[in-house]
Amino acid sequence: MDFESYDVLVVGGGLAGLRAAIAAVEANPRVRVGMVSKVYPMRSHTVSAEGGAAAVMRPEDSYETHAFDTIKGSDYLADQEVVEAFVREAPVEIIQMEHWGCPWSRDPDGKISVRPFGGMTTWRTCFAADKSGFHMLHTVFQTSLKYPQIARHDEAFVTKLLIEDSRCVGVVALDIRTGRFDAITAKSVILATGGLGRVYAFTTNGNICTGDGMALAYRAGVGLKDMEMVQFHPTGLPFTGILITEAVRGEGGYLLNNEGERFLKRYVPNKMELGPRDIISRAMITEFEAGRGFDGPHGKYMHLDVRHLGEKMIDRKLPFMRELGREFVGIDIVKDPIPVRPVQHYMMGGVDADISGVTPILGLYAAGECANVGLNGGNRLGSNSLSECLVFGAAAGRHAAQYASTAKPVSANPVDAMLWDEARRVESGYLEKKDGHERMGAIREEMQREMDAGAGVFRTKEGLAKLIRQLGGLRERFERVKIEDSSRTFNTELLAALELDFMLEVSQTIAVSALAREESRGAHARRDFPERDDAKFLQHTLAFRRESARPRLEYRDVHITNFQPQARTY
Ligand SMILES: Cc1cc2nc3c(=O)[nH]c(=O)nc-3n(C[C@H](O)[C@H](O)[C@H](O)COP(=O)(O)OP(=O)(O)OC[C@H]3O[C@@H](n4cnc5c(N)ncnc54)[C@H](O)[C@@H]3O)c2cc1C
Repeated sequence: MDFESYDVLVVGGGLAGLRAAIAAVEANPRVRVGMVSKVYPMRSHTVSAEGGAAAVMRPEDSYETHAFDTIKGSDYLADQEVVEAFVREAPVEIIQMEHWGCPWSRDPDGKISVRPFGGMTTWRTCFAADKSGFHMLHTVFQTSLKYPQIARHDEAFVTKLLIEDSRCVGVVALDIRTGRFDAITAKSVILATGGLGRVYAFTTNGNICTGDGMALAYRAGVGLKDMEMVQFHPTGLPFTGILITEAVRGEGGYLLNNEGERFLKRYVPNKMELGPRDIISRAMITEFEAGRGFDGPHGKYMHLDVRHLGEKMIDRKLPFMRELGREFVGIDIVKDPIPVRPVQHYMMGGVDADISGVTPILGLYAAGECANVGLNGGNRLGSNSLSECLVFGAAAGRHAAQYASTAKPVSANPVDAMLWDEARRVESGYLEKKDGHERMGAIREEMQREMDAGAGVFRTKEGLAKLIRQLGGLRERFERVKIEDSSRTFNTELLAALELDFMLEVSQTIAVSALAREESRGAHARRDFPERDDAKFLQHTLAFRRESARPRLEYRDVHITNFQPQARTY
């Protein structure tokens, strides 16, 4: 059988994937790059990023402060040499984006504008109004079109990594239009599949953020790192979970409780609305529990007030927020406060990878939100993620291209058999299965509800133990899931089942890693272990898959270079 074959294959057409593809061909113009994406690239979740991308752009700023802010923000779980490399590369990438045509917002003197963001000591978040992700994704997408060496497979869903002799040699992908399974081989494969927010019921993440790449790597034997570190953003719209960007607070918005009080003075007195996300989310829940939240049809909420900023400023810097208020809450943020509450937003954890995206499997790389290269630790600072996608997407692309130019070609022989096995697994497990009776939507909703309850902003031993048992039960029920649509063309029910399979896999790693971390650090807040415990847990968690058993955990020391752990107060 003939397969599509590339030097470098990128899985994912978001910011990290596209940046990686461009870097690969720029590193070596003879390299042929394939890109597989389950949606058209411009529909990747990156498109919805609002606030901006962090980088040291002004003389009053310094690499050292950006590094320190990021490391302190991470609650000292970041690997410090990774952060130090990141802060140096981020401005290079922002300027590269400028040269590729990204329409950054500008100051009157023509400089790229910067705005303040949570946990950053100075203004360093570059933005394109409040649609930064849209413009950045567009910029890398249009740039990728210049290169005939980059071939795209849009609307193809990767179900498995091809591993031969402990080396990754490609993927199996389901062509969504035809229902055909294809092997796409490559000398190196870069996972850039984004986050997993949809394992929670209340999330800012798009429907497609289902942790596929993390599950694919995990099944191939790679450890998932720090999966207990899940970020909750303080300001989601109740019910829809739509994000109200941190830039709203950056531009001067206040958070108010039901007594009209700026309650953050009790939690982050020196930073107030510009405190880090984990601490503000906990402050809001604590206020709710003390009876100081507003009650609404979708639970408790706080007010985010921007009325004092004035219409002119709101329309210039936050026009999309005004539109969201009108469309989704029926308010005008120029005249009314915005109802908000903490919402799942980002995954610090992910595929174990190093500073070049290298994973423990030869030929397999990871970058962007699906990867954990050691940058974000226990809590990511807002606006570091878009820059992370650029910096580490580019690094992975270069490294994968270099490796591909020396690696031996992939032989077709075992690939044939692996493709056949994988196609049979999906066909007999889903499409031809006659005895299934469990409803997929019911399993998914229960998983999401239980994740919200057991692995939310605050956690306990009992809650996590219960969650693990429940996820085990849901996994058993999933074995008996019924797929009603057995057709081949655009079988979205089958895709939803494959995604749920991945989500059940990664949820288990979140719960098991969280239960074992008996301390509170960054976004991981245990009511039963409220203190940080550096003596025992200044370590990364690594979760490895075991057949029919809970994941096995290992620990790895955090790399400290210049910043010794201190108490984290703001
Ligand atoms: C609403 C929102 C606002 C945000 N705002 C900001 C911000 O202002 N600043 C900031 O720094 N960060 C922000 N973030 C975070 C940041 O946007 C993301 O972390 C980042 O964009 C992720 O990019 P990515 O390239 O890793 O993945 P994505 O953009 O999510 O792309 C993933 C790609 O993988 C593909 N894929 C996934 N699974 C498969 C599969 N099985 N087969 C084939 N293809 C697959 C998808 O098709 C997609 O192309 C925000 C996030 C959200 C949700």
